[in-house]
Amino acid sequence: MEGLETLATVDTAVWQRITQHVIAHGGNLIRPWFVDLDPIAMEHGLLEIQAPGLTEKDYLQKHATGLFIDAAQTATGHLVSVCFLAEADRAARPAPSQAASPVAVSAEGDDEAPLNDDYTFANFVAGPCNRLAHAACQAVCESPGISYNPLFIHGDVGLGKTHLLHAVCHELKRRRPEGRYCMLSCETFVNHFIQAVETGQLSQFRYRYRHVDVLIIDDVQFLSDREQTQEEFHHTFNVLYQARKQIILSCDRGPAQIPHLEQRLVSRFSWGMVAPVDPPGYETRVAIVRKKSRVRGFELPDDVVRFVAGSIDSNPRVLEGAMTRVVMQARAQDRPIDLSVAEEALGSVEPQVRREITIDQIMDVVTGRFNVRVADLQSKKRTRSIAFPRQLCMYLARQLTRHSLEEVGGYFGGRDHTTVLHANRTIEALRKRDAEVNALLIQLFKQLKRPSL
Ligand code: ADP
Ligand code: MG
Repeated sequence: MEGLETLATVDTAVWQRITQHVIAHGGNLIRPWFVDLDPIAMEHGLLEIQAPGLTEKDYLQKHATGLFIDAAQTATGHLVSVCFLAEADRAARPAPSQAASPVAVSAEGDDEAPLNDDYTFANFVAGPCNRLAHAACQAVCESPGISYNPLFIHGDVGLGKTHLLHAVCHELKRRRPEGRYCMLSCETFVNHFIQAVETGQLSQFRYRYRHVDVLIIDDVQFLSDREQTQEEFHHTFNVLYQARKQIILSCDRGPAQIPHLEQRLVSRFSWGMVAPVDPPGYETRVAIVRKKSRVRGFELPDDVVRFVAGSIDSNPRVLEGAMTRVVMQARAQDRPIDLSVAEEALGSVEPQVRREITIDQIMDVVTGRFNVRVADLQSKKRTRSIAFPRQLCMYLARQLTRHSLEEVGGYFGGRDHTTVLHANRTIEALRKRDAEVNALLIQLFKQLKRPSL
């Protein structure tokens, strides 16, 4: 974890694995300019990626956040969130205080799922929603192949199934390092099978999956409608089961609900223990937020933890996303993580922005920056050295106050509303195409202690 807790440059090999994953799984989300993305830093489990420009940054934020999170988590074996920046955001950011070591990576090379080091029992919160599944996983680690075989865990996406499977694997390895454990996604199993058929290597395939002590397959709903693989899996299952080898499966629904699954598999899946995981209640969500922040190396104040857990009532993955938004908001504005930052980040209150800022404050900051006087801004002078700061003021006034176009015009020497409108548009356009102007504005927002919109 150390590599993730301090500000770290991102190791080239890790970045390469991230981009490979993105390319392999990104489908039609991929854009040619993805090759220009630059990893900047990894801190508190947050990977910062620089986009070539604002448009690209917006695109990534809207469409590719999940893709990059998956890629980063797979490549590092850690819980990682991702945020995207454009050059201008970086310019406005205080320089990192230290350069540090590359990110630690879990180094398992082949295509079985690399274990995520953070998905342990210690990092899993057991609550009423997952008590049975959690206990069954622990029991299986005590006596694999004996207590619950197969163990079938099912529940909606994001409720911790994969986390539990990884935890089992960690624990088994800890207790009996010499054991043969195989954990993989069902998709990989299916792909291996297809390849084996195509290349005539079925016997290698069979050997691989039938000579293990524990076989763990994630997301078996993927077997749905794949008759040949189902047939093969049926045999794998029988061989392992008869040899009293442990089988653990996860699925997004109960065995009988998987569409187009052979009846004999449905019944086998139910032979041992079928354990549901349900969405966590409030208390469990509080515990999850607290645990997650510790895993990522920071402590959230109690009121923030409760606020986050109270505002998000869906799955822990969404909860984590909310937590990340809070951290990012604090970081972007250089503020401590407190309740007001959390409220703004999760959108329950309007940002303070629109409340107390005055045009006087704006003029203050802008004149300080440009070495012009308020009287100049309010005069009729139209030289660029005065017109530009004046336009900036008008733009900021429109963004940060509730004053109408007319009122803003009134402040700046009685100009009419079309002038203010024009100023607003000019700056908006400049911001889009000129990174320097954008950086300048971000700094001004910051000086005004407001988030850059
Ligand atoms: P699933 O496989 O069911 O879709 P995951 O195991 O990928 O869900 O869980 C999504 C995220 O939520 C992971 O980061 C995981 O660590 C976290 N999570 C889910 N449930 C819990 C829990 N009970 N305690 C701690 N973290 C959890
Ligand atoms: Mg999963």
